[in-house]
Amino acid sequence: MNRLDEILSYNKSFVENKEYEKYKATKYPDKKMVIFSCMDTRLTELLPRALNLRNGDAKFIKNAGAVITHPFGSIMRSILVAIYELNAEEVFVIGHHGCGMSNIDTTKTLEKILQRGISKDTLSTLENSGINLKNWLHGFDCVTDSVKKSVSIIKNHPLMPKDVFVHGLIIDPETGKLELVVDGYNNL
Ligand SMILES: [Zn+2]
Repeated sequence: MNRLDEILSYNKSFVENKEYEKYKATKYPDKKMVIFSCMDTRLTELLPRALNLRNGDAKFIKNAGAVITHPFGSIMRSILVAIYELNAEEVFVIGHHGCGMSNIDTTKTLEKILQRGISKDTLSTLENSGINLKNWLHGFDCVTDSVKKSVSIIKNHPLMPKDVFVHGLIIDPETGKLELVVDGYNNL
């Protein structure tokens, strides 16, 4: 059975057995919070368990590295929608140690892109239209600085209400232990 069939077959019995019932929630976060974190596989269940979050408690936004690359990109839009439309009052930026987005060797990534059949012409066309691929693919060198930067972009966004608390933390992907980087209550 391929992965898709496996998922579809499991899903059929999940729904038939009404296993969804214990996950009932509304779209409004009960704990009025947004978590912005990394897509790392180790955090999928560990992060909510380690923060005592259940289905319905928080809005989760994830990408590679918990990095905001653009103040008017989809991450910032998601955070603003969570605040204005879904009643979130606090934002938690949570980076982690050993992140795949730290110290990426973008020269090697570009080599892999070429090996997978993307042409040099395509890369040149992108570079010529103003996209610096190495910069764009690069994550961050230091997770603490990266979390502080994301917190600052959110906190200082022109559309961010002043009464929203924006915290910055780092999670250990093995133990779930949190390290405080920015205490949003004292960062007004
Ligand atoms: Zn990561």
